[in-house]
Amino acid sequence: MKISKRKVVIVGCGLVGSSTAFSLVTQGICDEVLMIDINKEKALGEVLDLRDSIQYLSHNVKVKVGTYADCGDADIIVITAGAPPKKGETRLDSLEMGVKICKSIVEPIMSSGFDGIFIIVSNPVDIIAHYVYKLSGLPKNQVIGTGTALDSARLKNYIAEMVNVDPRSVHAYSMGEHGDSQMVPWSTVTIEGKQFYDVIQDNKGLLGDVDLNELVKKTVKGGWEIYNRKGTTCYGIASACAGIITTIFQDENKIIPVSTLLEGEYGEKEVFAGVPTILNRKGAADVLEIHMTENELSSFKASAAVIKKYIEKINELGI
Ligand code: NAD
Repeated sequence: MKISKRKVVIVGCGLVGSSTAFSLVTQGICDEVLMIDINKEKALGEVLDLRDSIQYLSHNVKVKVGTYADCGDADIIVITAGAPPKKGETRLDSLEMGVKICKSIVEPIMSSGFDGIFIIVSNPVDIIAHYVYKLSGLPKNQVIGTGTALDSARLKNYIAEMVNVDPRSVHAYSMGEHGDSQMVPWSTVTIEGKQFYDVIQDNKGLLGDVDLNELVKKTVKGGWEIYNRKGTTCYGIASACAGIITTIFQDENKIIPVSTLLEGEYGEKEVFAGVPTILNRKGAADVLEIHMTENELSSFKASAAVIKKYIEKINELGI
């Protein structure tokens, strides 16, 4: 008889990692959570704190400090490890540091025999996800970056606030880089089937002066609005991670905009970028190719080009 356990490992027990673990535990999304951090005391502190929540939940989840040797039979490994940028560092300096941290994590994980799904959260997420894909040698469906999942949630919140509906009734994607160059294919945005363009047209009093470019900028800056006030962002991304993991374990085929390897979709190859992706027990099972206008497609391709430029820089560094 075989009863499978839903085992998730979180590498990086900072705010994002610990908030993700808390979401997994409180929602009962998995049976076992292993916490790993370079700072072992921090990992243990988070584990002990998380364990104290079990008594008041309707289910038990085993929470332990882990090691890379424990990763062989994990189903999902979430990488949220990172080092805050040092003063005066360029984006490439922090990228180099992020890649080096990732290498020190992924190599021992692969030596453990891991054959599950990586979910990459560490920034710059599209570039790190591509790096993990190459380094791990795993099939592309087994490496997922959180991509524009969080940006899309923010975008939906802003649209929902404007028209006073539940954000879950807004269907909109931010796509491309989880960063400044992300774009929104407005021609595909709907509120439960009604084109957002028609919603604007039919509600000129309320929405007549809406500036869609400003909404994209607001989405890009959304993280900074939080970061500048509380010095971090954690709940939104933790919830996005928990949602992705639920979809995988429940084999839901839910579509979430995550960063996945493009192999000709949207005319792009050899790049991880945020696109609506069908997620199930296989991981990133398929990409949904939405039909964009010519202008939208060129904005998407410009964003993919930004990601590719940084991937090339990593290749040049030879890490
Ligand atoms: P944090 O500084 O609070 O935590 C990072 C943790 O990583 C620390 O506990 C640190 O000890 C650990 N760490 C560092 N090097 C390590 C190594 N070699 N091995 C194991 N652990 C190591 O940071 P945070 O706020 O939790 O953010 C974590 C990452 O998530 C950052 O890269 C951040 O930019 C990213 N992030 C991404 C999104 C997204 O949408 N993709 C959203 C928010 C944050």
